[in-house]
Amino acid sequence: MATTSYLYHALGLVRYQHLRTEFRGGAIYYHVSQKREERTCAGCGARWHELVMQGGFERYFRALPVGRRAQWLVLHGHFQYCRHCGRTLREPIDFAKGKRRRLKSFERYVVDLCRIAPIKHVALFLAVGWDLIKEIFKEHLSNRLQRRKLRKVRYLAVDEFSIRKGHNYMTVVLDLETGQILHVHEGKDANALIPFLEKLKRKKAKIAAVAMDMSPAYMQAVRQVFPDVDIVHDPYHVVTIVNRAIDETRRDMARQLSGQDKQLIKGSRFLLLRALESLTPSSLARLMMLMEVNEPLYAAYLLKEDLRTFWSLPNEELAAAFLDSWIHQARSLGLQHFSKLADTLDRHRQGLLSYFRHRISTGPLEGLNNKIKVLKRQAYGFRDMLYFKLRLYFIHEATPAFAG
Ligand SMILES: [Zn+2]
Repeated sequence: MATTSYLYHALGLVRYQHLRTEFRGGAIYYHVSQKREERTCAGCGARWHELVMQGGFERYFRALPVGRRAQWLVLHGHFQYCRHCGRTLREPIDFAKGKRRRLKSFERYVVDLCRIAPIKHVALFLAVGWDLIKEIFKEHLSNRLQRRKLRKVRYLAVDEFSIRKGHNYMTVVLDLETGQILHVHEGKDANALIPFLEKLKRKKAKIAAVAMDMSPAYMQAVRQVFPDVDIVHDPYHVVTIVNRAIDETRRDMARQLSGQDKQLIKGSRFLLLRALESLTPSSLARLMMLMEVNEPLYAAYLLKEDLRTFWSLPNEELAAAFLDSWIHQARSLGLQHFSKLADTLDRHRQGLLSYFRHRISTGPLEGLNNKIKVLKRQAYGFRDMLYFKLRLYFIHEATPAFAG
């Protein structure tokens, strides 16, 4: 009786009686069977008085260890003939999922441990295989993912991440309000995004805006599924392409020059990419020198710096005027890369200005970059892509110890 009560409280086992305890090979085995008056029919749910026992079976289930000592539950089960529905069925088991050979309480314990320790440590600690721990944790994450509601999603950020050196990309979508990654898919074309957007549509999500870079694939995907949703091109990516334009301009100029002037321009890369307010007095002096030898490059630098104020403008109307003037100035520089840049910004005018309606960016997604890198370093992520993705879906709750 005392053991029955232990099994009830420690292993979460109700409706069972303890038959005997066995110690074998350093492990503890609890033999149990279901209490007669607790029995039900697996088919129709009829109570015990409708059931006739017909033959038995024995099944082992892994239970929580005590210290380093493994514990097993040995179920002495029965086939039950039901007078109510006329079927003979195996008795239902409620302490384990499906055909699993472990207690639900064991699984819950594994999941709790996986939140604070790497999988391989949990496996060592519980003296079970690494793959068993991963399987349990994976199933837990996958169940939670399936229960996730998409109906209230409003603001999204989408971006690509390289998952391997070379050309292996992954499209990642973030819910900007909850900080959860909602979608992960190999590739960076429209097809990596469209099925997810269609799912959002089916779930009747009222999407307000999507932050993204200026690559056409994601724009096309959003346009196709949500034609009326605002696309927001955020500062992060625009600054990147402006920096690229100034760097290419500098390189072109260095190529055309020789001697001291060439050296001055060649050595100015870092200088030109820096923000004006973060330049040291000596860098500032070099910038002035650069201005004297090469005025167009200096003008381009100032224009680059000027664009940064765009996102702090108070409203869309002022932003529109600013953008038009900026594009005009960029074109009048007569520099190839800046004319091209002006065209690009002109083409994406709408997406640049919609920032002032929503004030969202892919910044929070960029912020996850480091966490994703940590996950990437764990090589098994790629051997098991499904698990790697699951971990990404819950990366917002990851603590440093969670990595594993
Ligand atoms: Zn029945």
